[in-house]
Amino acid sequence: MSTWVIASSSPEISTLLAQAGAEANLLVVGNAELLDSLRNAPVAKILYVPGAEIPESYAAAISDYLEEAGADTVLAADLPTERTLAAAATAKLGGVWISSALTWDNARRQATQLVAARAEETLAISGPVGLVLESVGIPDGGQAEVSELVLTPRAGITLQKESARPSNSENLADAARVIGVGRGISEKADLEMITTLATALDAKVGATRPLAEGYGWFDSYIGLTGQTVHADLYMAIGISGQIHHTGGVQNSAVIVAINDDPQAPIFAEADYGIVGDLYEVVPALQAALEA
Ligand SMILES: Cc1cc2nc3c(=O)[nH]c(=O)nc-3n(C[C@H](O)[C@H](O)[C@H](O)COP(=O)(O)OP(=O)(O)OC[C@H]3O[C@@H](n4cnc5c(N)ncnc54)[C@H](O)[C@@H]3O)c2cc1C
Repeated sequence: MSTWVIASSSPEISTLLAQAGAEANLLVVGNAELLDSLRNAPVAKILYVPGAEIPESYAAAISDYLEEAGADTVLAADLPTERTLAAAATAKLGGVWISSALTWDNARRQATQLVAARAEETLAISGPVGLVLESVGIPDGGQAEVSELVLTPRAGITLQKESARPSNSENLADAARVIGVGRGISEKADLEMITTLATALDAKVGATRPLAEGYGWFDSYIGLTGQTVHADLYMAIGISGQIHHTGGVQNSAVIVAINDDPQAPIFAEADYGIVGDLYEVVPALQAALEA
């Protein structure tokens, strides 16, 4: 039985490897540049899959290889390609899939994950498991040998076109005033009401992770794993206030929260709180600013 970390698009897997342990193996699926950044990873061995321009097409071959290698634990950073490869391998191993773990204790085979605003649960896993974890830092200090693993892609994927997407997200790092919006906004068209308020307040607009990664309304999000805000004023509109989000805004001077749930955790972080429907409160604020 063995632990494998899959890296494919980002070398920032230092904290992930620390949780995997020094006996883990690293499978690098991607370009030679990625391999170069990971050569000093503190692991038992490093295998490099060359020629994987479209790593997803190697998912089946990688899964077969890991099964033959006796893998029972597959870890990857929380990134799209890594998620695909790790999930495919976990399915092949017949394992438990944990898609957004906070921590993994390889020795005890225990995962923690967030289940509500301030609640975490610890899961004890027996049998194969696959997890994606947030990770930062490029690893260093290891001397594992690197060998090539030549695999044949199964799926017929070819890159037809690559084009840059215009960004719809602002750089919030130096903004003096920021409005953050969350899932309290029911439709994308309703963001217009928020941008109008932002113009009146001379504020920039950001969002929580679900609005960026879930709905695709923003290219980036505010929070511990997103952009950090150090504003004079941070206004959280329709945001519950879970630690992942508030951890990225708590250095703001004044936090104002608008939420229709008086129990929402954001109120514990806020200097000023308005309990109410944002669809009534925001137009009322707008009217007051224009008066
Ligand atoms: C490893 C990991 C990392 C993460 N990193 C981040 C991160 O960096 N940033 C981030 O934002 N999230 C992050 N998340 C997600 C985070 O845990 C929360 O799920 C997310 O922040 C919740 O977003 P939300 O507040 O928009 O949605 P919800 O939690 O669904 O909250 C919506 C809120 O809107 C209120 N509401 C609904 N309708 C109205 C209305 N009409 N008027 C007023 N209020 C209303 C509700 O009462 C509710 O409180 C991460 C999660 C994981 C597992």
